[in-house]
Amino acid sequence: MKVFALLGLALPFVAAKVSYDGYKAFHIDTPEDFDHVEAKLQDINYVSMACESNHKGFDIAVSPESLAAFEKLGLKVDVLHEDLGADIALEGTLSPYVSARKEADVGLAAAALPDLSYFNSYHQFQDHLDFLDDLQAAFPSNSEIFTAGNSLEGRPIQGIHLYGASGPGTKPAIIWHGTVHAREWIVAPTVEYMAYKLVEGYQRGDAKVKAALNSYDFYIMPVVNPDGFTYTQSGDRLWRKNRQRRSSSSCVGTDVNRNWPYQWNIPGGSSTNPCAETYRGASAGDTPENQVLTNHTLSVGEAQGIKFYVDWHAFSQLILLPYGYSCSAKVDNLSKQMALAKGVSQAIKAVNGLDFVYGPTCETIYQTAGGSNDWVADIAGAELAWAVELRPGPGGSGGFVIPPSNIIPSGKENWAGMLRLFETF
Ligand SMILES: [Zn+2]
Repeated sequence: MKVFALLGLALPFVAAKVSYDGYKAFHIDTPEDFDHVEAKLQDINYVSMACESNHKGFDIAVSPESLAAFEKLGLKVDVLHEDLGADIALEGTLSPYVSARKEADVGLAAAALPDLSYFNSYHQFQDHLDFLDDLQAAFPSNSEIFTAGNSLEGRPIQGIHLYGASGPGTKPAIIWHGTVHAREWIVAPTVEYMAYKLVEGYQRGDAKVKAALNSYDFYIMPVVNPDGFTYTQSGDRLWRKNRQRRSSSSCVGTDVNRNWPYQWNIPGGSSTNPCAETYRGASAGDTPENQVLTNHTLSVGEAQGIKFYVDWHAFSQLILLPYGYSCSAKVDNLSKQMALAKGVSQAIKAVNGLDFVYGPTCETIYQTAGGSNDWVADIAGAELAWAVELRPGPGGSGGFVIPPSNIIPSGKENWAGMLRLFETF
């Protein structure tokens, strides 16, 4: 009775899941006339499809009722999705991940590695936590699960800490964050695939992997925005931000990757409008998720130093170095970072032939403010602090919504890139 009463109360307030059926998505080329194109789009009903706004083009999904008007504009476009709703359906169902370890109740003994079939589908948030638990259980002497803190809605911001022969906390750190932008679904399984390869390679005795794990402590967090990620599955597949409400606005969400407390209020690098996809928050670092991430990163940095940080994103196939906040400021070791990024890009290309463009964020895409890699470089003192945008490419078909058959190829190509880096830095 109580359940029905609660449901009855809740139902009028439950929003229906957003449908993108009939939305057609485009990449619009805007070599010189970005503002002109933006003005033309004023009366078109569309959703932005970009990870980072940039002046080299727009990626947008146009609603069915605006399609005719959009096509009349005669813009130079590539089609990303003929029917976004149909392509969302092609992402498939979220197959439940069945933990063999939990089923067998193996207790403290080292368990088998998780089954690679995990990477055949996208997953719910809890499955991501279970996968990391299983990876840890398969590598009990060289790993631990850590919770850096909780999201606004109370979900754990969790990761796996991997280390080599000399035990935890003694080597410089490599920190990877994923899924700060909730809709970038290819990110979490790509990062998890690389975590899997670190464990699997170490156990197999692979010399390169053993050298990497014996030299660095890895802190790998596949989903740092769990509230947003959960909402992409329950409410809106294209949700980007966290789920924070502000008293000043009815719009929900802050872009956690415009909220880092460094060079936060540079004009043009983020938005002050709570309804915008790049809303930076009311003050620097005022999202619970950002506070968790800055505290964790600072404590690791103070204890061990940070060799390498990556904030993994999608899409566009880019390797972005500091800085985003300025196109004229240069990091001291830029030429070294450029040489390393070139090697990573070449190693990625050798796997599946994909081109990953590399360079400082501001020059390569556009000015960004309050972004993670600037903060991690200058405040946490990381030697290398990158953002990597995974597949597909900028004008390529798919955007954020690509079939799960991309997961293992994405994992393999980026793993090759990281292996090259571990050998060379
Ligand atoms: Zn992103």
